[in-house]
Amino acid sequence: MAREQDILKRSAPKRPPRLTSRRIGSHTSSAGGVQNAAERAYRLGCNTFQIFSSSPRQWAPYELGELQCAEMNRLRAGYDLKPLVIHTNYLVNLASSSETFLQKSMKAFRGEVERALALCAGYLVLHPGSFRGSDREQGLVRTAAAIAASTQGLDLAKGGLTILIENTAGAEFSLGGSFEQVAEILERLRGAVPVGACIDTCHTHAAGYDIVSEEGLYVTLQHLDATVGLNHVKVWHCNDAKAARGSKLDRHQQIGKGMIGKETFRVLLNDLRLAHAAFIAETPIEKPGDDRRNVDALKKLVAGT
Ligand SMILES: [Zn+2]
Ligand SMILES: [Zn+2]
Repeated sequence: MAREQDILKRSAPKRPPRLTSRRIGSHTSSAGGVQNAAERAYRLGCNTFQIFSSSPRQWAPYELGELQCAEMNRLRAGYDLKPLVIHTNYLVNLASSSETFLQKSMKAFRGEVERALALCAGYLVLHPGSFRGSDREQGLVRTAAAIAASTQGLDLAKGGLTILIENTAGAEFSLGGSFEQVAEILERLRGAVPVGACIDTCHTHAAGYDIVSEEGLYVTLQHLDATVGLNHVKVWHCNDAKAARGSKLDRHQQIGKGMIGKETFRVLLNDLRLAHAAFIAETPIEKPGDDRRNVDALKKLVAGT
């Protein structure tokens, strides 16, 4: 008996990173090629991850070779990394009232969709844009129309790709500072393109919603359900906040070290109505290991792990 146990011990594979019943991951660097992000995410203990497929603040997309994509898919299958989430470049503004900028944004966004399809991503996250130069309602209409127009002829449903509209902190002219605005864009696109929402906890807090007190969080989730629908929220960006509620300042902080606090994340991660979603940290890396520590912090909050 003792001998049998010894044999089992010796042949036991190296313990894989601890996984939970939830999909938890991190925004991960694609330095050296997108396929490297999959390896990095696995080593951070993620079972889902987010990347950029273009430089976040430049127009030039990353070069994607067929071999890179194949390697990315092989690693993701081997490491059970799903879904893959891609975040659109920050320059894209599909609500722009300048025709030249709108055309440039639409071309760039089509490229984002093409790369997301090539990488077999499940979700492409998009900020709804800025309505500077017109009004909010026109901005919402323009964004929805531009998403539909720039994806024409691309079969997102066949590729299993859904575009997610992210809520924002609602500063100045930025669209998406309320759940109603996110819901309106989704409503306008239903039937045309597969769409859903990405809710960022830091943006929600900065936009003025109470997600800190127990009752406030309950009410905010009810409100989100009544507008966007909790089943349509496919990704939660899990970020603590440096700034106060209602400040409109988008300043991400490490989980549990900001104005939100870790109890909010415990509630979100254990709410069965949200169990289908991916939870992704976009927390700052101030010292080496912060990315792993934030993923670990989220994983520890899931009950029974
Ligand atoms: Zn974002
Ligand atoms: Zn975010």
